[in-house]
Amino acid sequence: MQVVVGSKRLAARTVRAPLIMVLTVVMAWVAGASAPIARAVAQPLSVDAVGRRLVAAYPDFLAAVEGNWLVWKDGTRMAIDDGKGAKSFEALLAAPDLEDMLHWPYRPGAPAEPPAFQHDPGRARHQPLFDKMYGDCTKGGTADKLAEIVWLPKKARQRLKVTRVNGVAERLEAVSRTLDTLPAKFDDYLFPAAGTYNCRPIAGSTRPSVHGAGIAIDIGIKHAHYWRWTKPDADGRYPFRNSIPPEIVAAFEKEGFIWGGRWYHYDTMHFEYRPELVDLKPDDKGAGCQGAAKC
Ligand SMILES: [Zn+2]
Repeated sequence: MQVVVGSKRLAARTVRAPLIMVLTVVMAWVAGASAPIARAVAQPLSVDAVGRRLVAAYPDFLAAVEGNWLVWKDGTRMAIDDGKGAKSFEALLAAPDLEDMLHWPYRPGAPAEPPAFQHDPGRARHQPLFDKMYGDCTKGGTADKLAEIVWLPKKARQRLKVTRVNGVAERLEAVSRTLDTLPAKFDDYLFPAAGTYNCRPIAGSTRPSVHGAGIAIDIGIKHAHYWRWTKPDADGRYPFRNSIPPEIVAAFEKEGFIWGGRWYHYDTMHFEYRPELVDLKPDDKGAGCQGAAKC
């Protein structure tokens, strides 16, 4: 904060103030005029925006975006849009391209409200991206990348294995340090953690689980809710249930982890490292996050 303001600077400010006010009003009017459209329609991100998000999220591996190509530091090129057009919900999960990974906007910091029908931000995962960074666990490609961390060193001292790749181990340790300071009433939610690294398919499917990449953690199971454990209602919809406190979700999201409690197919004890969905640039945060286009 600047305490002393010289008379010249004060004079300049006095002159500038009306101009700034006019600009502010005009900008607010422009933003207000466009906001209803942004809120009403889930605008997909452009191919370029998807690529830039990924490059920003994974700087150890990704170098640039060139048209429809995501360019890796080792020269590998991956298509961002596979050109197959709009996909069904099932196809988005079964065979997503890189663009589809950001199909559903993720809103970090939002209240834990029931997600819209089939709104599953983060569940579309372009497997070649994950296999290339973290290794394919079914071929023994992840084991040498795992580190052991101590989960909640004060409260639990539980040893867990997660990947070192992309700094995931350090980030989970940072989450752990924050959660370790929470009052005892949170303990039941946090430990014993139900699992981290586990080379397995997603329950009820043949698709590989991100637990096999070593980037996911399931926290204490006592207060967990999972869509597969819930009976659908008369319309065949799964009623949302959650008891995970927002303080826990916030600690994870701050370090680049998404929460399974933001999915229509909810899995409230599950968190996974997906910085492309959570790590927003400062100008992407705030009010803009109400609009699907920005988040
Ligand atoms: Zn999980």
